Amino acid sequence: MSGHVLLVGGTHGNEVNAPWLLRRWQQTGGPPLPAETSLAVTCAIGNPAALAAGLRYLDRDLNRCFRHELLGDPDLCELEVLRARELLNHYGPGGSEPQAVVIDLHSTTAAMGSSLVLYGRRPADLALAAACQFRLGLPVYLHEGDPVESGFLISLWPCGLVLEVGPVAQGVLCPHTLRRTELGVQTLLELLQEAAAGQLRLPEQLRVHRHIANRDLPRSSDGTPRASVHPDRLRSDWLPIAAGDPLFLGPEGPIPLEEGTPGRLATLFANEAAYGEKGIALAVVEQLSLRCLSSWSEALRDVLTGSLASGTVASGTVARSDHPPA
Ligand SMILES: [Zn+2]
Repeated sequence: MSGHVLLVGGTHGNEVNAPWLLRRWQQTGGPPLPAETSLAVTCAIGNPAALAAGLRYLDRDLNRCFRHELLGDPDLCELEVLRARELLNHYGPGGSEPQAVVIDLHSTTAAMGSSLVLYGRRPADLALAAACQFRLGLPVYLHEGDPVESGFLISLWPCGLVLEVGPVAQGVLCPHTLRRTELGVQTLLELLQEAAAGQLRLPEQLRVHRHIANRDLPRSSDGTPRASVHPDRLRSDWLPIAAGDPLFLGPEGPIPLEEGTPGRLATLFANEAAYGEKGIALAVVEQLSLRCLSSWSEALRDVLTGSLASGTVASGTVARSDHPPA
């Protein structure tokens, strides 16, 4: 059977709020679908083994495993690579139960509020992000052109977004995070329903924060940090920063953002706990506005109606599983 929307939570096993919602929806009849929906929604726990262990991952970050050189390497048998293959074999475009759109639900320890993350500029993704920004006012992080960080789950589905909600500590269930995640899912499902019906409304412009660079803390020669993130940046995710503004704070005082990066800059993911091991203290981003195109909505409708035409999905179907069958 083909479906429309795959909701994934627990891609990172120490982000416990979305998996809690998915399991609650299993008990209560499904996620908050729009009335009279024609959408078929499937829920899956991204990394059940890491979730059970309370860890972000066991062998390798699952949300960096969706790269053909990893997936196609027969000698690579790390748990998360196996899980990525399993998810694709089941729910991917060529899988046994293919899904057109994937919404990957994450949380962050950074005080960023709710946001959407886009990997690249696929028209269908842009349509969904722009419509959601229009409806909820959410900021959008456009991750592209990063030579180090790649292999994100949503990148191997025809359309996909990350919903990122924070701040919340790792492993902690938080009522605000649950409510914001639920509101984001509910809105995205409403918008996908409108898109499938050719009724999606886009704003004139999509405002994005485009990835420029990741920044590590200044470090001594032995690797220990010489400074922390500056307190101004801890409460300023999404807000502008200019050359000369304080970025870090060391014993000798503030360390400013250097001259030389053009554009209207901001910072994101300040002090995200999971990024410490990657040597990322925060991301520097550029604020851009993209003119919305009607072709984006058409691309999203094609993704959704293509899946309708290719399967035998009953209206309002909600299929649910914690993980695909072995
Ligand atoms: Zn995550």
